[in-house]
Amino acid sequence: MKHPLYPHLFEPIQVAHLTLPNRVIMGSMHTGLEEQKGGMQALARFYAERAAGGAALIVTGGISPNREGVLGPGGARMQRKHHAREHQVITDAVHQAGGRICMQILHGGRYSYHPFNVGPSAIQAPINRFKPRSLSNRGVQRTIKAFIKSAQLAQIAGYDGVEVMGSEGYLINQFLVEATNTRSDRWGGSFENRMQFPLEIVRGIREACGPDFVVMYRLSMLDLIPNGSSWEEVVLLAKAIEKAGANVLNTGIGWHEARIPTIATSVPRGHFSFVTKKLKGAVDIPLVATNRFNNPATCEAALQSGASDLISMARPFLADPEIVNKAEASVANEINTCIGCNQACLDHIFKRKVATCLVNPRASHETKWPLDAKAIKPLHVAVVGSGPAGLSAATECARLGHRVELFDESSEIGGQFNLAKKIPGKEEFHETLRYFKSMLVKFGVEVHLDQSVTAEELTGQFDAVILATGVRPRPFKIPGSENQKAFVGYIDVLKEKVDVGLRVAIIGAGGIGFDVADFLSHDGDGDFSKAWGIDEDLEARGGILKPESRKSKREIHLFQRSSGKVGGGLGKTTGWIHRKTLKDRGVQTHSDVEYHKWDNGVLHYTQSGNPCTLEVDHVVVCAGQESRQDLVEDLTRRGVNLQVVGGASNARGLDAQRAILEGLEAAYALGT
Ligand code: NAP
Ligand code: SF4
Repeated sequence: MKHPLYPHLFEPIQVAHLTLPNRVIMGSMHTGLEEQKGGMQALARFYAERAAGGAALIVTGGISPNREGVLGPGGARMQRKHHAREHQVITDAVHQAGGRICMQILHGGRYSYHPFNVGPSAIQAPINRFKPRSLSNRGVQRTIKAFIKSAQLAQIAGYDGVEVMGSEGYLINQFLVEATNTRSDRWGGSFENRMQFPLEIVRGIREACGPDFVVMYRLSMLDLIPNGSSWEEVVLLAKAIEKAGANVLNTGIGWHEARIPTIATSVPRGHFSFVTKKLKGAVDIPLVATNRFNNPATCEAALQSGASDLISMARPFLADPEIVNKAEASVANEINTCIGCNQACLDHIFKRKVATCLVNPRASHETKWPLDAKAIKPLHVAVVGSGPAGLSAATECARLGHRVELFDESSEIGGQFNLAKKIPGKEEFHETLRYFKSMLVKFGVEVHLDQSVTAEELTGQFDAVILATGVRPRPFKIPGSENQKAFVGYIDVLKEKVDVGLRVAIIGAGGIGFDVADFLSHDGDGDFSKAWGIDEDLEARGGILKPESRKSKREIHLFQRSSGKVGGGLGKTTGWIHRKTLKDRGVQTHSDVEYHKWDNGVLHYTQSGNPCTLEVDHVVVCAGQESRQDLVEDLTRRGVNLQVVGGASNARGLDAQRAILEGLEAAYALGT
C-alpha cells in the first residue's frame, strides 16, 4: 500500500542486490570519531541509531585508500587487513539494526592537508597551503590499485558496497578537469583520457568485488569552478561509469574551493535537484539528488517531479536520527530539522573536533546521553525562560520523566529564535521552534506565557529550578546617543518596530551586527542562482556565470572597535558567505574605530586615529549582550536547587549551540 503522504519516498527500490525499503540514503559525513580512540564503537552506535531510524542505505564518512589520500595527518584509511577488522563492529551494528551500509572511498588529492599530498599535476589548491606532488604514471596505477584493494577490504569488513568519491574537488575530480590536470600522458589531454582514472577504478572494483556489491559513484555534476566540466562531459562520464559497472550515481555539487554556497541555510531547499534531473534518461541506473534536502516533503516533491530516484540527506541525520521513521509514521512535526548552519558539524571538523549538531547535541554522543535514559527520581521542575536554552531544558527534563512547568514573560515561546528566524536565509529557525512546540506538547510540559515569575513563587513549589532567562542588549553610550529616534536597538529593528532610513550605521560587527546588516540590505537580492552566478541551463563550463548585481538601495556601514577582519569571528564554513553577501550588496565595513559623538544626524568617530564623520538616518546598536540574572541571587539565598543555563549563565560567546547543549546538560544533571 502506498504511503498516504509520501508515496514516492516510501516506494521500495532495487539497488544492485539490495531491495531498499525507501528512497532515503544517509549521505557521507565525516564525524571525527573515525580517528578517535574507541571511535569505532561510537561510530557503530551512531550509524546503528540512524539505521534503526529508517535510513535505507548509509554511506560512511570518507575513508582513504592510502596514506597520501588522507585528508589530514592520522586520517582514517582502509588499506590493510587490520583496518577491515576494526570496521566490522560498524557493519555488524548496522546490520543488526536492519540497515545497509556502504563505505565511502575518498582520496583527497591536492585537498589533503599534509605535506606529502599528490595530484594529477603539481597545482596547489587555493584552500590548501600544501602544494601537491604530481603522480607519476606508476603512481597513478598504484592509486587505482589502492582504491580497488580498499573496496575489497570494505567487502571483507562486511560493507554492502562502496561509494567512490568522484566529486567536491577531491583527487578523482582533479583528474577530470583541465584546471587541475595538465598531464600529457594517457591520464591527461583529452576528456577521454582524463576520465580513464575513475573508469579504471570503477571497473576494477566491480571485477574484484563481484556483482553482489553496491558500487555507487559520486559524480560532480556541477563543479562551480572556472574551467570546470562541461555538461557534455558530465553526461559522457555518467554513461561510461555506468558501463564500467556502477549501480547508482550520486550527485556532487561544487568543489570545496568554489565560492558559491551549496549547503548553507541560504541555499533554498532541494535547489540543486535541477542538476540531477537534467541527467535523467541519460543512464539507466538510479540517480541520487543531494544538497539541502532536510524534510520529507521536499524529498517527496523532488522524487515526484522525476528529479531523481533516491535522495541523499546527511546533516539531517545528525539533527534527527529518526527523520525517516517519523516521516513514515506521518509525524513530520516531530522532526528536529537540520537548519543548515554548519556550526556544530562542519565547523567542528575544521577545528578538529568531533562533529555534532546545533539542534541535537546528542549527535555523536549517543552513548553519553542515551535517548532511552530515565530520571532516577521524577522531580517537579520549573524552567524559567523559553529561548533555546529553556526549550532544550524543558524538553529534555520532560523526556527524562520529570514534571515540567515552563515560564516566559513573553506571549510566545522562542526567545532569540524569534529574532533569528527573521534574518533572510535563517528562516529554518521556524522549524526549530516548530519542533520544540511539538515536543512540549508530546512530553506534557505545562507552558505559562505572559507570566514573569518571582523568586518567592519559585520557592517551595518546585524540586528544582532551571533559569534560562537569556540576555539583554549591552547599553551603548556616547554624547547624543540618548536620541531615541536615531539610536535604535537590534530587537526593535528585527521586530520591524522602526522604519529604518536609507543611511544606516551599525555599531558592532558580531553575529548580530552581521545579521542586522543582512536584514537591512536584502532588498537587492533576487533569485538565488542569479545572485551567485549559477547557470541553471548548464551551458557554461563548470556551471558558472557572472552574478547579477544585488546592490542594496540602503547605504549601510558596519563598525567595530577592534582592528581585525570584520566578520573574522564568524563560522569557518559560512562566514565567507555572510561577508561576500554584504560586500556584494554594497555594505561598507570599518574596523579600528573609536566612537565619539552623534550630533545633528552626523556620527563622529576616528578610524585608525583619523577623524571621520558620517551622515546617517539611524544608528543600530548591536554592541553585544549581557546576562539577565535578575533572579539568581534571590533564588540562591533561598536555597533553591538552581541551575543557570545559556545566556543567563554567561553572555560571552553565547550562541544557540551552547544554549541548547546547556539545556540538555542541566536536564541530565538532575540525575539519570
Ligand atoms: P558579539 O558577537 O560578541 O559581538 C558584539 C559586537 O559588539 C562586536 O563587534 C564588538 O566588537 C562590539 N562591542 C562589544 N562591546 C562594545 C561596546 N561596549 N561598545 C561598542 N561596541 C561593542 O555579540 P552579538 O553580535 O551580540 O552576538 C551574540 C551572540 O550570538 C554571539 O556569540 C554570536 O556569535 C551569536 N550569533 C551568532 C550568529 C551566527 O551567525 N552564528 C548570528 C547572530 C548571533 P568591538 O569590541 O570590536 O567593537
Ligand atoms: Fe544541520 Fe546545523 Fe546540525 Fe549541522 S549543526 S547538522 S547544519 S543543524
